[in-house]
Amino acid sequence: MTAVLISGASIAGPALASWLHRYGFEVTVIERATELRSGGQNVDVRGAGREVARRMGLEHAIRAATTGEAGVRFVDADDHIIASFAAGSSDSDGPTAELEILRGDLARLLVEQTSSEIEYVFGDHITGVDDDGTRVEVTFAHGGPRSFDLVVAADGIRSSTRALVLGGEPVVKPLGMYTAYLTIPRTEADTDWSRWFNAPGGRTSTLRPDNVDTTRATLSFMSEPRGYERWDSAGQRDVLRQRFAGVGWEVPRILGALDGADVYFEAISQVQAPRWSSGRTAVLGDAAYCASPISGMGTSLALVGAYVLAGELATRNDHVRAFAAYESIMRPYVEQAQQLPPGTPRLANPRTRAGIAGFNTIVRIASTKLVQRVARTVSSPKAERIELPTYRPVTALKA
Ligand SMILES: Cc1cc2nc3c(=O)[nH]c(=O)nc-3n(C[C@H](O)[C@H](O)[C@H](O)COP(=O)(O)OP(=O)(O)OC[C@H]3O[C@@H](n4cnc5c(N)ncnc54)[C@H](O)[C@@H]3O)c2cc1C
Repeated sequence: MTAVLISGASIAGPALASWLHRYGFEVTVIERATELRSGGQNVDVRGAGREVARRMGLEHAIRAATTGEAGVRFVDADDHIIASFAAGSSDSDGPTAELEILRGDLARLLVEQTSSEIEYVFGDHITGVDDDGTRVEVTFAHGGPRSFDLVVAADGIRSSTRALVLGGEPVVKPLGMYTAYLTIPRTEADTDWSRWFNAPGGRTSTLRPDNVDTTRATLSFMSEPRGYERWDSAGQRDVLRQRFAGVGWEVPRILGALDGADVYFEAISQVQAPRWSSGRTAVLGDAAYCASPISGMGTSLALVGAYVLAGELATRNDHVRAFAAYESIMRPYVEQAQQLPPGTPRLANPRTRAGIAGFNTIVRIASTKLVQRVARTVSSPKAERIELPTYRPVTALKA
């Protein structure tokens, strides 16, 4: 049995583990956090990602766990509505996708598919990888050394395993914005609608409903890269307090909830790795090709990448050819997802009052029924640059 070690238990790692397990591989997943991380907001499962979820038997569970967000409203400092966009009726329409789920809920669903059958190790991480061509010897921060046939780094945008397996860092391209995600107590002002507020200085805040009676908040600010993402959480909270001092709307409420909240703070960036494998090791998901939360594609890319990587490993029975096929199938899809609209994210996070007024005029016009209808007609969803292969694994699928 081929033994595979996967680093990272969020979306890409558990999805790969689930497929490999079905194909008869022996899988171990290692996660740096001491337990499954539940933080984050609604993530979209679109197009090919949704088809993979369907093939995993998870589409109904995802639909059942949806937050039921009605759509997005742009509001001013007095919470007056500037423009409303209802949730999409197809899987690619509108700012709120039809199939959306809290990131933590999706991670839990993926892990639960296999956690009773495969080994999940929490609270540890890889410190060394030695690929001698026949096996990969791995050392860990806490556990003793172990040996595997293959190692896959699926440990996110700031993966420390990536450099160990690829032998160098890829380009991590910052997009000039920091975002903090946190969960806060729900109040009567929170409805089924997501709310978006712009403040001068390129500062933006959102509040989104969830399905567990809390509210998912973000604080974003435009900034040159300053390395805040590597600061400890107390330092990151101070940065947020300084950057958002004096901002109105619901921002004081969000700042007041910072202490005690699980804050996911990220320098919004894309990962552009020139190659996704080396010998017996590979990278997957955000670690390999993060498209950024702005793309709305991170989860779909992780699910599709896991499906393709597992399918190629199962059917080719040769990791070198399988890794090459994984990359050639996924590259065009990733490149499409990484093409962000021109001016993103600057245009949606204006620095001046005049800029905000201009942005509000644009969203007001864009929200009218006529413009939405015309936009849908002229920009009918782009065909996705991927045709999902159907794999006939050499080993039988387990139920
Ligand atoms: C807590 C959290 C909240 C998020 N919130 C949002 C959100 O609100 N909106 C959004 O669009 N995207 C969010 N993301 C990112 C989103 O999950 C990904 O863009 C996408 O789903 C692809 O997932 P991934 O599994 O490739 O990477 P990630 O979701 O980033 O997961 C990487 C996993 O690897 C673990 N890890 C990191 N380093 C190591 C290591 N050295 N060894 C072992 N494990 C390690 C992390 O703890 C994490 O569980 C969030 C990610 C996390 C971890």
